[in-house]
Parts: sequence; C-alpha cells; structure tokens
Amino acid sequence: MNLTDLLTQHFRVDTIHQKALARLGVLTIGDLLHHLPQRYEDISTIQSVQGLVKGQDAIVFGKIGGLKTRKAWKSRVPIAEGWIEDGSARIKIMWFNQPYLAKMLTDGMYVKLAGKVTGSEGKLYIANPEIEKLESLPIDRHDSIFNNTENLDETIYPVYKETKGVTSKWFYHTVLKCFEQGILEDIVDPIPEEILTRYHLPTLATALQWIHTPKKADHAKSARKRFAFEEVFYIQTTKALERAKISAATSYQFKTEAPHIKKFTERFPFSLTSAQKKSIAAIFGDFNGTHPMSRLLEGDVGSGKTAVAATAAYATVTSRPPEGSSVSGKLSKGALEFGNLQVGYMAPTEILAKQHFESFIEYFQHLPIQIGLITGSGCMKFPSKSNPTKPTKISKAQLLKWVKNGEVPIVIGTHALMYKSVEFKHLALVIIDEQHRFGTNQRKALAKKDARMPHLLSMTATPIPRTLALTVYGDLDITLLDEMPKGRKPIITKIITKDKQEEMYAHVRSELESGRQAYVICPRIAEPDPEKETALNVKSVIEEAKRLKEKVFKDKRFGILHSKMKPAEKEKIMHDFSLHTIDILVATSVVEVGVNVPNATNIIIEGAERFGLAQLHQLRGRVIRGTHQSYCFVVSDSKSEKTRDRLKALTTAKNGFELAEHDLTFRGSGELYGAKQSGLTDLGMEAIKNIKMVEAARTEAQLLVKNDPNLDKHPIIYQKVSKLMTTLHME
Ligand code: ADP
Ligand code: MG
Repeated sequence: MNLTDLLTQHFRVDTIHQKALARLGVLTIGDLLHHLPQRYEDISTIQSVQGLVKGQDAIVFGKIGGLKTRKAWKSRVPIAEGWIEDGSARIKIMWFNQPYLAKMLTDGMYVKLAGKVTGSEGKLYIANPEIEKLESLPIDRHDSIFNNTENLDETIYPVYKETKGVTSKWFYHTVLKCFEQGILEDIVDPIPEEILTRYHLPTLATALQWIHTPKKADHAKSARKRFAFEEVFYIQTTKALERAKISAATSYQFKTEAPHIKKFTERFPFSLTSAQKKSIAAIFGDFNGTHPMSRLLEGDVGSGKTAVAATAAYATVTSRPPEGSSVSGKLSKGALEFGNLQVGYMAPTEILAKQHFESFIEYFQHLPIQIGLITGSGCMKFPSKSNPTKPTKISKAQLLKWVKNGEVPIVIGTHALMYKSVEFKHLALVIIDEQHRFGTNQRKALAKKDARMPHLLSMTATPIPRTLALTVYGDLDITLLDEMPKGRKPIITKIITKDKQEEMYAHVRSELESGRQAYVICPRIAEPDPEKETALNVKSVIEEAKRLKEKVFKDKRFGILHSKMKPAEKEKIMHDFSLHTIDILVATSVVEVGVNVPNATNIIIEGAERFGLAQLHQLRGRVIRGTHQSYCFVVSDSKSEKTRDRLKALTTAKNGFELAEHDLTFRGSGELYGAKQSGLTDLGMEAIKNIKMVEAARTEAQLLVKNDPNLDKHPIIYQKVSKLMTTLHME
C-alpha cells in the first residue's frame, strides 16, 4: 500500500461512495490520511445504559453478549442481535442487513458502542451501532461513570467531515485498516527534523496516528498543532518565495532629502501624526535600499493613509531615473519637470479612484506635476491647459501618450490601469488601495515591460488580526498606522435595543432635518421566504427600505444598494447619494469599501449581532469623514448577554485591529476578514489563534527559502508549495 495509491485499489468503494469521496477531495490513501477529524467525541459524553431514552445518540462502554443472527419474521431481512451491559443495565442491540457484523464479535468482549436508541419504552434497543473492540473498559462499570471522571478524557474518538454517502465511521475504520497495513512505516516527513524538535512537534507518522486514533486528548492536540503549523508553514513558504523573487529584481533606488520633503509636508493643513512619520520613514528607507519595496500600510479609516501615499508619491516623482535613461517628446504646457520617476495609484472602485484624484490635486496643485486619472468611463488630467486650478477631460489616447513618454508622472485609476495599453516610462512606485481586492501580482501587471520592478505600497483599512495579516500578507512588510489624527470628533456609538428604537429614529430624523444623510445597513438583500422572515427576524434591504419609507421617514428620499445590482447601477446610486439627491441609503455591507460621503453622518446597522466587530467597525467608518458629529446605531434584539458584551467592545476598543483580535477570540476564525484569501483550512485557522506559532512558521519558511531558494533540497515541500501557489493565485 502506498500513499499515492487510489483508495479503490485497496477498498471496495462503489460509485456513489467514490463520488462522495471526490467531493471531499479524497481519492488516494494519502488524501484519506490527511482527511483529518474535525473534532472528537470524548468519553464524558458516554451515557450509562440505565438512563438511555428513545431517540438519543448513545455512546456506551460495556461487555457484549447474547449474540445471534436470525431472519426477520415477515420481511426475511437478516438481523443480528445481542446486548450490551455496562454495569448499570443492559440494552438490546440490533443490526439489520449486516449479520456478518455480529460474527466478528464474540460474547464477553469489551466494546465501545455508538448508535441511536430506538424502539418503544420497555423495549428499547440500539440500531445498527458502531462497535469498536477494547482491551478493557476504560473505567469501572460498577461505579457511576459520572463519579469517576479522572480518566474520562483519556479515550476520545474522531469525528470526520462527512458528506452524503460517506460516514465518519467509514473514515475511521478505513484509516485504521491503512494503519494495520503499515502505511505509516516508511512515510516521509516533509518538515525537517530540526524544525520539529525546535517546536516540540510530533513527526508525520506519529501525528497521523495521534490525530486519527488518539489515546488521550493531549495527543490529538499535539497532532493538530503539528498539522496547523505545517499548513501555515507552506503558506509562509509560498510568500517567502514570492518575496524572494521580487527582492531579486532591480528597482529604482533613490535618496530623499529631508528639507525637500518638508517643503511638501509642511503645506498640509495639519501636522503628521508620529505613526504617519514613522511610516514615511520606513518607505523612504526602502526607496533608498537595494530591493524593491513590498510594504503594507494598515490603518483604520481616517488614520491618514492618503497623506502618507502622497508624500511617497512626491518623493518619487521629484526624483530622476538613473543616468542614461533618455527622455524625449514634446512638453505640454505646465509640465516643467519631465521624465522623472512615475507613480501608478490603483483603487478598487471608480468612485475611490476619483476621490484619490481629487485629494492628490489638493496635495500637488502648487507644483508643476501633472496627474492623470484613468477609469472605465474616461480619462482626466490635472491641470487643465486653460485653467491651471482645474482638471480637464482628455482622450485616453492622449493621456496614454503622456504617461508613456513620462510627461504625466502620477496616474491614478481603477483596474483599468493594468490594461496592456497603459505603459509607463519609469514606473517606480505602485500604490494599491485595499489590497485584499487585488493581488500582489498587480504590481507586475502594471510594470509590464519595464526592466525595473516598481516599489509597492499597499494600503488597507481592513482590520484583520495580526496573525492573519502575517499570513495573508506574508510577502509584505507591515506598517501599522495605529494612531488617529488629533482633534477629531470621535464617533458616538450606541447599542440599540427594541425599546430605544423610537429614540434612535427621532434622532436620525432631526439629523436629516438639519441637512445630513444616513445609511441603514441590513444583513440581507431580500427576503426569499416571507414565512422565514419572521422566524429569523433578519431585516432585508428591500423590505426595510419599504418599511422606513412608509412608516418612519415618509418625506425622505431613499436609495438602495446591494451586491446583486450591476456596477453601473451601484455607481449611480452612490453618485446620487454623494450629490444628496438621496437622504437615506439602505444597503447591505457592500458600502463598507471606502466610499466617502462626508455629509452622511448617521449609520444604523440592523441585525448587528450577525456581523463581526471588525466588520461593524468598517461600516461605522463610512460616517466618520466629515466635520459634523457622527453617530453609529448598532441595533440588536439579541437576548444573549455574550452578544451584548461583544457589541459593547465597539464602544471601548481603540481601533479596528483591536476589534479584529476580539473577533478572533470570540467568534472563531472562519468568519474573519481575510480568512478566505488566506487559503487556510479550518485546521490552519486554529494556528491563527497562536501568534507564536505563526511567527515560528514564518521565520522557518524564510530561513528555508534563504538556504534553499529553489527548494531543490526539499522536494516534497516544493511539491506542496507549487500546488498551493496555483490554488492561491486562482482566487
Ligand atoms: P484613510 O487612512 O482612511 O485613507 P485619509 O488619508 O483619507 O484616511 O485621511 C482622512 C482625513 O484626515 C483627511 O481629510 C486628511 O486630510 C486628514 N488627515 C490626515 N492626516 C492627518 C493628521 N495628521 N492630522 C489631521 N488630519 C489628518
Ligand atoms: Mg483611504
């Protein structure tokens, strides 16, 4: 038996069964062994026979007896039967259609038995139980099992992810058979021994045994830790390889002089926070280094990422390319500096691209530096020939020409920036807003034929826990903007229960009357089944907009926004909202991606318990842009004290990253931001709760790639990692 053998070579697997296994991605023996249990049943869930009731899923330990087979009286179905006794009582067991099962057992055997209690009162029996032979009973049956808890966690049983057609039971037994055939004997461990020793992790063979057939809870835990480490280690290895590839490329290296930079930053109508200063220093350090920068700037909405980006852009476009790079072409009016290094700034949506364009115009208007905007719906350039304080529409062909000859050094845009037709002369810096909507590959796409790799500054306001950031963005250096500019009016956040609803509406009404706007967020788009609506009590965008229009804000203008709408429809609604032809925008969480309508100062979030704290924080970020006091109403009818405590963190936490850590602790990692992009399985996600483990996996992966850049000496890791790279890039 080999790991690469198909299961069908060794086991009788019918077509339905095969299909079911394929759905779980289990084709080979190796796949089977790596189909790890999701959880364990522990012995404390065992019932004593005496207390069993009809319908219960029972797990009992005891001695088996009275085994015999017969045919059912009418149907002639073969039946095997017997009983199990655990010291408290005995109960009948029956197998239908599986008489051979009884033949494998003998009277007096000790077993662990699991099955459903069926029959009628006084005539209870356990139907088609799963039986496992035991050397001895784990505890003395004559004691009440609940009295003797000392050894209880010493016997635990795996429960696997099932799909229609394959049971957990089947997995367990098939794995056992593989073990019996000695599959673990010459299994090769891809993780180098010294790493295992360093972190006290079991070898692959031991871990497989411990995870499928743990003798005690610690074994299972230790094995899971190893597999979780392994998973994160592979992901970190892909990131380390990507990083190494980037680092090997040549970039534009340039110095930044402090007095020169100061001339730019001192014009800001504020002084930089120390977090902003530190970020800028880190970026300049990279510009002056020998490798292309790969940096992620993480900062809450409003933490001032744009000012950092603008300063980095300024340093770039006021620097010259290395000697020998020729400059040619006719200068357009206003372009005094020519042929300097260039910047491409990519935003996830057209609205955001336009907003960045406008901010950059403010930052750069005093300088002879031209700025271009490229989106799907047209191109703009600042300054306009006729009015040096205004941007102007220009043809795409014209803009592309000026970008190509280096005359327009800063180009802002959507993914349209990546089109083949967009060529730069000396693209030295790529800025990407909201990284998680793009990939790191965008840098390469933008660079195109350019011989040099541009520096990358990626920015995100998405609050994800540090461990997850280290994993998802493992190929980037992370800088945290963890300080909010001073003097900002903090948002007022209120948790709203049903009895406070009228008060909330009265408040929002008065805000609307004084000219402000509001968002209302609902967890769902529409209600598929009106009967379920009341049962689930989850508000939907469409119903809620109707209700508010009819009952609460009768004279107000409404708009709706959700993911099922076409991009053009969404853009139009957002545009109308920003022009204030809409007062109230009822939306799903789609608005969380940086839309800026400073006049919208109120946000009502319905069904708040359904969102993670980090997500609620993102949503709240939509209304902290303006100069007016802003309000966030977190509406929840949840009676659970836990839920209310969780929501309270919104009023106490310092920033989104703190809330993301809360989510990790209280919500389980599957629902976290970034979880999907990470490529982690549920098991790998367990590792994310452990910063030491993630850091260890990262350190080891970087070391591995440093010492063995092509993974020639680690063929199995190479294989795993190549496969992973394909799946990660498919996203
Ligand atoms: P984000 O990090 O969400 O992209 P922005 O860069 O858009 O934040 O900044 C939000 C607002 O804060 C802008 O109006 C900007 O001018 C202002 N701002 C940025 N840095 C500071 C600062 N150090 N002090 C005061 N206001 C600042
Ligand atoms: Mg921003």
